[in-house]
Amino acid sequence: GDELVTAVDRVMAHADARARMLVRANADTPEDAARARRFGAQGIGLCRTEHMFLGDRRQLVEKLILAETDEERFAALDALEPLQRADFEGIFEAMDGLPVTIRLIDPPLHEFLPDLTELSVKVALAGADADPQDRRLLEAVTRLHEQNPMLGLRGVRLGLAIPGLFMMQVKAIAEAAVARKEAGGDPRPEIMIPLVGAVQELEAVREEAEGVLRHVAESTGVAVHTLVGTMIEVPRAALTAGQIAESAEFFSFGTNDLTQMTWGFSRDDVEAAFFSRYLELGIFGVSPFETLDRDGVGRLVRIAVEEGRATRPDLKLGICGEHGGDPDSVHFCHEAGLDYVSCSPFRVPVARLEAGRAAIETGGSDSR
Ligand code: PEP
Ligand code: MG
Repeated sequence: GDELVTAVDRVMAHADARARMLVRANADTPEDAARARRFGAQGIGLCRTEHMFLGDRRQLVEKLILAETDEERFAALDALEPLQRADFEGIFEAMDGLPVTIRLIDPPLHEFLPDLTELSVKVALAGADADPQDRRLLEAVTRLHEQNPMLGLRGVRLGLAIPGLFMMQVKAIAEAAVARKEAGGDPRPEIMIPLVGAVQELEAVREEAEGVLRHVAESTGVAVHTLVGTMIEVPRAALTAGQIAESAEFFSFGTNDLTQMTWGFSRDDVEAAFFSRYLELGIFGVSPFETLDRDGVGRLVRIAVEEGRATRPDLKLGICGEHGGDPDSVHFCHEAGLDYVSCSPFRVPVARLEAGRAAIETGGSDSR
């Protein structure tokens, strides 16, 4: 019992001491953040914010979707902002003193909108008696419907399409950080823009975000150092990393999407019949969604690391796709020169061990 715990603790401490990479966790709630900390996570590498728009907040999202004027849209956003601020305060508190990377909203639109079929049936069944609100919603949802939501209005595209949406989140992050600092805490926010493929997309968001951050700092008199960076998850982003680094203080590789888009395999259909055929034929030994495909996706990661650092030598580099908790992929990340991996809380210990092992095998902890 106790002896084993002590032995495990010693091994973990040894791994941590030798590792060059830090291990963070993907966590979206204060509970997950606290759990991740218990497993030894050194921050949050990905806080997804999509779930903060579901549940009993759906009504506000519907208002946002239905807004026909700027006034209506900003009213819906203003109602969401304090809820978001409270979400972020809880997470900053749980991760006090450690970096928290908050990713601005990135839902495939079909997960965000009311279901088109359900709504159509509801309106059709009600006939002439249909709720006018439902009719308007059906109109809006029909207009926004996409054949390929995974390649559609997601991430930064959504942020640029709905003015005010991203900035509502940025303001909530900034105010939550100020509140934590005023309460004696040490919040370390990092704002991450998803699905960027061109530096121009990032610049547009970044400029506006810096304005909001400045405004909050000036109006509260409290300054919180906040990084702004991007995910690298569209192949074009990896290939133009040198340009993108002009506008990003950090990169985090979203290898779920990067794998999907590099292979052209749908993430939603990974169980499709042909996958087992591919395994049988040895086209890959394991699914590239589980273990990072070094030849294809890995090549893009290496290009982005090299070109990103050429532009900005102090660029912080991490990974937050599922691969961040897979030992072979963690090993690759060390070789590629990343600063941290981020994975689900339960995989943090394994990632810590592998980060240490990779450093030992490649000769010491100062290989960079
Ligand atoms: C990714 O694409 O690897 C990623 C971390 O983002 P998400 O899984 O939320 O698309
Ligand atoms: Mg992604």
